[in-house]
Amino acid sequence: MKIPYGKQWINDEDIDTVTEVMKSDFLTTGPTVKKFEDKFSSIVSSKYAVAVSSGTAALHLSAQVLDVKENSEVITTPMTFAATSNCILYNKGKVIYSDITGRGLINPQEIELQITSETVGVIPVHYMGLPADLEHISKIAKENDLFTIEDACHALGAKYKDSRIGDCKYSDLAVFSFHPVKHITTGEGGIITTNSKSLYDKLLQLRTHGITKNKSKFKTEHTEPWYHEMHNLGFNYRLTDIQAALGLSQLSRLDEFVQRRREIANKYLDFFNEIGDNFAEPITERESEYNSYHLFVIKLMDPNKRRSFFEYLMKKEIYCQIHYIPTYWHPYYRENGYNGSICPKAEDFYNRIISLPMYPALEDNQLEYVLDCIKEFQKI
Ligand SMILES: *Cc1c(COP(=O)(O)O)cnc(C)c1O
Repeated sequence: MKIPYGKQWINDEDIDTVTEVMKSDFLTTGPTVKKFEDKFSSIVSSKYAVAVSSGTAALHLSAQVLDVKENSEVITTPMTFAATSNCILYNKGKVIYSDITGRGLINPQEIELQITSETVGVIPVHYMGLPADLEHISKIAKENDLFTIEDACHALGAKYKDSRIGDCKYSDLAVFSFHPVKHITTGEGGIITTNSKSLYDKLLQLRTHGITKNKSKFKTEHTEPWYHEMHNLGFNYRLTDIQAALGLSQLSRLDEFVQRRREIANKYLDFFNEIGDNFAEPITERESEYNSYHLFVIKLMDPNKRRSFFEYLMKKEIYCQIHYIPTYWHPYYRENGYNGSICPKAEDFYNRIISLPMYPALEDNQLEYVLDCIKEFQKI
């Protein structure tokens, strides 16, 4: 019985929906992508959505459309996947790291300390599926004339106060990923949501080479029916209709997926409550937050036990993961001037954490097995 930390859940309906599109006239971006975008924005309550080929592509375009360029400083957290800060580097900007709270979220007070005259934006991450402190962050952003991109790749289905993650109530753009370990999958894929028509139009164009076929946008006089213009150095970051079909079908089960994740989380929470906090403490949500639990992360009291715990679980065929090594510790970042200790709280956090299995297809007996193994290890 091999148990990963996360995986997809594909059913026959998903497969049938994909098969149907494969028999249609459109394989790449066509009517199904638009349908997927419309359904997605109606679920998260945003005005617009632009589907792209990955969460990383979504981040890349977001930073570009908000005009990150040479010497632009953008503040983000090191407790995330490398793609979050890489999107700043793609656009030749400078990554400025802000330290985190005890729950792994970017700390607004630390953001304030990092602001300079070169700062142009901030990219909070809803780590684990827990919303970052958006109200506080957007206040800081407004006061300092900064953009906000939410890296919401962990947080489809999450809520913050009266807002759904992705509605962009507190941000310019929000970015999601459809990698198989995320809440819904399209194999590879991503989406950007926004309420800004002008950002939406620019994103659509950048997704497909910076080319437009819209006559009203032409910069030169042309009436030939085949005419089109390239305005920006865009990319081919299109999602295919095949992928969008899978996405649409998966979206129809989003509520079920999130509910099951929260049910599993509650079982973990009960378990850790029961065994007491000498061994580990789970990260919990607060009243104003609704965690959609992309991950279930616990913090070990004794960081020296983390490696043996990890190896013990591996022996039991429970394949956990550590989310994350602070991104600036990757050799690429070190080689580019990020040396030594930058965010001490993130580094201590990293030393203690481990992500336990968390995905909707995890069965009760598998979860029982995981809990039994943890109990056994904790006695050694
Ligand atoms: C998954 C993820 C990404 C990247 O998404 P891809 O679809 O794999 O490119 C970016 N940021 C975070 C926080 C993620 O978890």
